[in-house]
Amino acid sequence: MNIKNYINGKFEDPIKGEYIDNYNPSIGEIYGQIPNSSKDDVEKAVEAAEKAFPSWSNTTLATRSKILSKIAELIKDKLEFLAAAESKDNGKPISLAKAVDIPRAAANFQFFANAITQFSSEAHESVGLNAMNFTLRQPLGVVGCISPWNLPLYLFTWKIAPAIASGNCVIAKPSEITPMTAFLLGEICNEAGLPKGVLNIIHGLGASTGQAIVEHPNIKAISFTGGTETGAHIARIAAPMFKKLSLELGGKNPNIIFADCDYEKMLETTVRSSFANQGQICLCGSRILVEEKIYEKFKTDFIKKVSELKVGNPSEETTNIGALVSKEHLEKVKSYIDIAEVENAKILFGGDRGTVKNCENGYYLQPTIIEVSDNNCRLNQEEIFGPVVTIMSFKTDEEALQLANDVKYGLSATLWTNNLNRTMQFSKQLHTGIVWVNTWMLRDLRTAFGGAKDSGVGREGGFEALRFFTEPKNICIQYE
Ligand code: NAD
Repeated sequence: MNIKNYINGKFEDPIKGEYIDNYNPSIGEIYGQIPNSSKDDVEKAVEAAEKAFPSWSNTTLATRSKILSKIAELIKDKLEFLAAAESKDNGKPISLAKAVDIPRAAANFQFFANAITQFSSEAHESVGLNAMNFTLRQPLGVVGCISPWNLPLYLFTWKIAPAIASGNCVIAKPSEITPMTAFLLGEICNEAGLPKGVLNIIHGLGASTGQAIVEHPNIKAISFTGGTETGAHIARIAAPMFKKLSLELGGKNPNIIFADCDYEKMLETTVRSSFANQGQICLCGSRILVEEKIYEKFKTDFIKKVSELKVGNPSEETTNIGALVSKEHLEKVKSYIDIAEVENAKILFGGDRGTVKNCENGYYLQPTIIEVSDNNCRLNQEEIFGPVVTIMSFKTDEEALQLANDVKYGLSATLWTNNLNRTMQFSKQLHTGIVWVNTWMLRDLRTAFGGAKDSGVGREGGFEALRFFTEPKNICIQYE
C-alpha cells in the first residue's frame, strides 16, 4: 500500500515525487512506498497550518474537546484494523497492538479532550497595591511533532493530542520505518471533523524531512521522541532560533530486585519488562540487578520463564515475541550479542535468530539473557533496544544504588522490595525521571513523563504537556 502526505486535510504525493520503500519486518519484504518529502512539502504544510491557526486557536474548548473525543471514538471503532496495520508495519505481536498501542492512542485523545477543559489560568492579587495579575496560556502557533518507530501511533498521538487540544496547528512526522497508522490517522481526523490544516502529516527520512521541520523558522516548538544522539543534533539546530524543545530520549533502565519482594509478581513482570515489544520500549528494564541471596534461584526461574515465550509471526495471537523493526536494527542488536565474549560476559539463554515457519526472511531474534560481572561494559552502558537483557548480582543497598545510577541515561528504574525505608531511599536517590516500585509501565496519564540525564529534557503528560504547548503571558492590571 502506498501512502501519501496529509496536508490541509487532503492526501497528496510529495512535490518532488520521491519515495522510500516500506518493509514488512515479519517477512522481510517491501509492501509499499512512502513519500520522501522535501523542504517544499514542509513549507506547504506550514502555510496550511498558519492559515488554520487563527480560527483553530479561537475555537471554543468545548468544540475542540468534542473533536478530540470523536477522534478517540473512531480509533476505538477501528481497533482491529489499526492493530493489524501496526503489527504488519512494526513487527509487534498483534495481541500487544490490540491491548496496548491502539487503545492508548485513543486514550491520548480522550485524555486531552478532558484535560483542556480543566486547564485554567492563574490569578494573583498584589495585595495593598491595587493590582491584579493573571497569566494567560496562549497556544504557540505552528508546532512540530517528531516520533519514533517503537510505539508508532501511541507516541505520535501522545504529542499531537495535547498540541491541538491547546489550540496549536501541527506539522507531524512519524518514523519513516513505521508510517502506516500515522497515515491512517489523517482519514480519521477528517471523519471527526478536525478543520483542515490543523494537523498536517509529512512522511520522509529524518535527516531530510525531519530536519526541514526542525529548521523551519515559523515552527515555534519541537516535541521529539527518539534516540539521544538525534535529540542532541536537533537541540543544536533549534537553540539559535530559541525554539521550545521537549526531548524524550533513550534509556538503559535498571530493574533492581531485592530478596524481600513479592517473588512471583516480580518474576512475571520482569519477563514483560525485559521483552515486551521485543525489548524495543524505551522503558524496558534492560539491566537486571539481583540481590545475591536470590541470584541463583532467580537465574534458573527467569531462564525457564523466558524459554516459554513464543517467538513467532506477529500476526498470530499466540506470539509473544514478534519481529524486530528492520534489518539494520536486527544487525545492531546482534552486534551486542557478538561482543559478549569480548566483554567476558556469558550468554545464559538465546543469542540466536531462531526460525519462524513461513517467515524465514523476517527479522527475528530469540530473547537473550547475558550475565555480566562488570557494570562498566558496553553491554551495560549502551542502549541495545532489543530483546537482550543483562543480569548481575549485588550485595548491599549502597551497591545496588551505585550500579543503578552508574550510566549516562536516566529514564526510568524499577524497584522490587517490600521494605518501606528502602523504597523511600531509592525513590529519592535514583537519578531517573520515573521510578516504579513493585510494578512496571503502569501509567496514569495525569502524571509527568520524561527522563533525567541523557534521557531527555522536559516532561510530557497531563498539564505538563499543555504547559509545553502554550506560552504563559502575565497581565498586571492596576486599578484606582
Ligand atoms: P531516531 O532518533 O532515529 O528517530 C526518531 C525520529 O526522529 C524519526 O521520526 C526520525 O525520522 C526522526 N529524525 C531522525 N533524524 C532527524 C533529524 N536530523 N532531524 C529531525 N528528525 C530526525 O530514533 P528511533 O530509532 O526511531 O527510535 C528509537 C529511540 O527512541 C531509542 O533510543 C528509544 O529509547 C527512544 N525512545 C524514547 C522514548 C521516551 O519516551 N524517552 C520513547 C520511545 C523511544
